[in-house]
Amino acid sequence: MARLGAWLIAPPDEALADAARDGELLVARVRTWLTLFLLLIPLLSLAFEPGSAQHYVGLFVALSALTIAVLIERALQRRAFRTSMAFYSSVADVSLVSLGLFAFWLVDRPIVTTNSRVMWEVYLIAIAASALRYDPRVTLTTGLVAGLQHTGLTVFTWATHRGDGLLQASEEYGYFSWSTQGSRLIVIGAMTVVALAMVGRTQRLRKMSTNDRLTGLFNRLYADEFLANQVQRTARTRGDLIVALLDVDRFKQFNDTHGHAAGDAALRSLSRVLRDRLRRSDMVARYGGEEILIVLPGADVNSALDALDQVRVAVGLTDIALPKGGEARIQVSIGVAAWGIDARTPEGLLEIADARLYEAKEAGRNRVVGPGTAGALSLFEQA
Ligand code: GH3
Ligand code: MG
Ligand code: MG
Repeated sequence: MARLGAWLIAPPDEALADAARDGELLVARVRTWLTLFLLLIPLLSLAFEPGSAQHYVGLFVALSALTIAVLIERALQRRAFRTSMAFYSSVADVSLVSLGLFAFWLVDRPIVTTNSRVMWEVYLIAIAASALRYDPRVTLTTGLVAGLQHTGLTVFTWATHRGDGLLQASEEYGYFSWSTQGSRLIVIGAMTVVALAMVGRTQRLRKMSTNDRLTGLFNRLYADEFLANQVQRTARTRGDLIVALLDVDRFKQFNDTHGHAAGDAALRSLSRVLRDRLRRSDMVARYGGEEILIVLPGADVNSALDALDQVRVAVGLTDIALPKGGEARIQVSIGVAAWGIDARTPEGLLEIADARLYEAKEAGRNRVVGPGTAGALSLFEQA
């Protein structure tokens, strides 16, 4: 129960931010098409009953919704995606439905506000679409806001019209009933639970495809994607970007001495130290068997070299509990490359980080070699 609660309010994994942006764009596109489609309903109704005021209201609401949908889509294409956008657009979707229902109250058709058959269902579409933001907080908020607005509208409409007969039997919409309204609230709740389950499943699948099983670190597939994105962003913003390759020293010997299971325990312990010591914005991935790729966005050379050297020292001081009892330690070597100084492409940065890792091994292991470090290769000219 506590774990469920924590999940419901936790921000989603970094790895899902890209998917969330794509989801938001997809929702924006669907929203535009859907509102365009919804426009057909009042248009067709008007064709059959030209004099009816409620169809004009419907037309006005559909046109407003279409305008808002187009504006949101254009804003998304222009601006960088932020998590807050998912909250705003999901709540906007739900509020548009409520606004549409309220419009009927304004023209003295309160039975359509409470018993609408097409517009009300769009609440459910909005809640389902919120799952495409892959963020349980967004889906939970969307469901809660839909439930509150639905209840608020119902109580308000009932309170303002209970005496005037407008909530009594209507040929098309039936009559007002609390049990129907209650059932609708339950349907909103059920839809929210289903949407949350979809978010949870997607997060798990995404984690399985981006993370390494043994260490829980990101895998190579994700690391390459992340590095390519960061290189692009750094080129755009002229910021800093550091790429480091870490390799365990004499790991074959460690395996031979302590066994393969102990080697696995060492890799798990190493990944824990790395995650604890590095920033949340840094990306740590298992790049090969016992090779780790670290990407530090926005870090300048000196502070990155400092941080990585502290990591190296921390790894060397960490006792690894061996499966068969006892403790052991490992040491690591790290090769570092800086965007703009060494290279400007992912391949170039990796190549130089790898060459410096080799240099660190040659120079005696258990050290960090980067641009300007003693013993570093002078690769600037080649880059
Ligand atoms: P160096 O200091 O030059 O890096 O020496 P090394 O022995 O570490 O050499 P190398 O990096 O080539 O060794 C790779 C070894 O890492 C081979 C393999 O036994 C071990 N290894 C790779 N992946 C795993 C793994 O998943 N689990 C375990 N236990 N060992 C692994
Ligand atoms: Mg190796
Ligand atoms: Mg090694």
